[in-house]
Amino acid sequence: MNQNTNGELKTLVYGHPIALNVDPVEKKPLYHLLPGSKVLSFGTVGCNFKCPFCQNWDISQTNIINENIEVSPEQMVELAIKEGASAIAYTYNEPTIFYPYAKDIGVLAKKKGLKNIFVSNGFETPEIIEDMASWVDAANIDLKSWDESYYKKVLKGGLEAVKDTLVRMVKAGIWVEVTTLLIEGDNDSDEALTQMASFIAEELGVDVPWHLSAFYPNYKMSEHHATGIATLQRAERIGKKAGLKHIYLGNVPIAGNTYCPECDTLIIDRTGYTVTTNKLQDGTCPHCNKSIAGVWS
Ligand SMILES: [Zn+2]
Repeated sequence: MNQNTNGELKTLVYGHPIALNVDPVEKKPLYHLLPGSKVLSFGTVGCNFKCPFCQNWDISQTNIINENIEVSPEQMVELAIKEGASAIAYTYNEPTIFYPYAKDIGVLAKKKGLKNIFVSNGFETPEIIEDMASWVDAANIDLKSWDESYYKKVLKGGLEAVKDTLVRMVKAGIWVEVTTLLIEGDNDSDEALTQMASFIAEELGVDVPWHLSAFYPNYKMSEHHATGIATLQRAERIGKKAGLKHIYLGNVPIAGNTYCPECDTLIIDRTGYTVTTNKLQDGTCPHCNKSIAGVWS
């Protein structure tokens, strides 16, 4: 939420979070960053996209700022430490909307040994990504479709820009996990899924986790049916065929376990958002010693 005031760009939401929670990192979702740890998550109002299926539309698609809520960067970092969080997540709405606020918090958090997580639609400029590299550890980026006109007309974003962001973030050394919310009939054709999976495998790397998430009727798409598990499993098969090593199904009651891509040993056992077993040893498989990609310390 920015406003041009007398030629100066001002972030209206600076210091005004609207949603704030302590969540497991698995809920972001990030499965390859400090599994089972707690994350202080917050967002403000506003978004640069107009997704008709937005899960947080009540805050993302409003411009009403509650100025009675005032949290300074210092207070945010103190709160994260007090809650025992290992990271701060900039999430719920698009964090580039409140980038100056996020960065002031993030730089402080980093000094205190906390990690910083962006949950974003991937519409960052190359300049922002370059800046992020100095303080953002990980990002979950949505790849919402493989159709440029759908991105432009329906979401009011752009596919090429999102692909560019993903490539740049990986190159910048930010740990990236990709999420695709599957909506039957809109973005789940075999062809689209094959293209998405190939893009991740070839341009980002086969170790980049792909989260396939089920759509539920919501916001302007309350009449559209929920996505079935079979569709997620079809997408999973397509992803595996493309060579992706870590595919996770979300919004469905299926365990999102992490297996060693080399010897198939179960390394991290998850039930819902809870890690029940973590056999990872210094980032490697306990059975074959293969190094598992991720941020583990
Ligand atoms: Zn192994």
